[in-house]
Amino acid sequence: MLKIALPNKGRLSEEVRELFNDAGLEVKVRGERALTASLGGEFEAIFVRAQDIPEFVADGAAAAGVTGWDLVCESGRELEQLMDLEFGRCRLVVAAREESGIQKLEDIRDGVRVASSFTRLTAEFFEKRGQKVTVVPVSGATEIAPHLGIADIIVDLTSTGSTLKMNGLREVGTVVQSSARLIARKNQPPEDAAKLEELRQALSSVLAARGKRYLMANVPRRVLPGVREVLPGLNGPTVVDVQGGDFVAVHAVVPAKSIYRTIAALKSLGCEGILVTRIERLMP
Ligand code: AMP
Repeated sequence: MLKIALPNKGRLSEEVRELFNDAGLEVKVRGERALTASLGGEFEAIFVRAQDIPEFVADGAAAAGVTGWDLVCESGRELEQLMDLEFGRCRLVVAAREESGIQKLEDIRDGVRVASSFTRLTAEFFEKRGQKVTVVPVSGATEIAPHLGIADIIVDLTSTGSTLKMNGLREVGTVVQSSARLIARKNQPPEDAAKLEELRQALSSVLAARGKRYLMANVPRRVLPGVREVLPGLNGPTVVDVQGGDFVAVHAVVPAKSIYRTIAALKSLGCEGILVTRIERLMP
């Protein structure tokens, strides 16, 4: 059994479970507060704090894990990134009080105090820029630090920027762009690496399918060239003869984002019986 460390709570936990479930690795938890769960077959989930996952994986307590890239960078541990899961997008940013007069990173003077729970990344960031700051470690509610007078600026996570704005803070620079990642220990034994590659492919096929739809339509034969332009598909649409008629059936994988436009275009070409379904997995 390979142990996979997953976030036990917080922003990433729900989406991670949903993704594993969709990939057929159903998270079977015994009770609300369970610390482990069967993932079916070859994997077992262990539920830990998102912050601890890089350490657990680097130390070999789990073969792989899912956590935020910000936390992987902050841990400073050498880990292999197997896959970007594309959710949990956020940025670790430098922010200053709106009335501070700090508009950009260059305005930050030596001696400034920076509150952050990402102390390593903060120190590294300013060191690389040759700016001498004092890092003030906090474990949460970083955005109030400038108002309490314990720091001049902060380094904190944001996705929409609304929490920063609500607290009268202005974003002045980005330290790290983050999203949820599947990570693994470096130099896995080959049999573990092979299993993790299967896991990566399973998760990846689910993510690939989420943005696509399977579309079928009955198309008058004479408008087929026009339909081919509307439906590029993966390798071009599949065209099937419908016996004894002027119609052919066309099947294609299309982007979910533009499905309304695709349907409108097909209708205007005279297509009928348009059917759109979700795809569970897509392995191009
Ligand atoms: P949490 O357990 O909720 O504190 O967050 C764990 C991880 O969720 C963070 O380390 C980030 O990788 C990610 N995350 C995604 N969006 C945000 C956001 N808007 N603010 C903070 N963390 C976020």
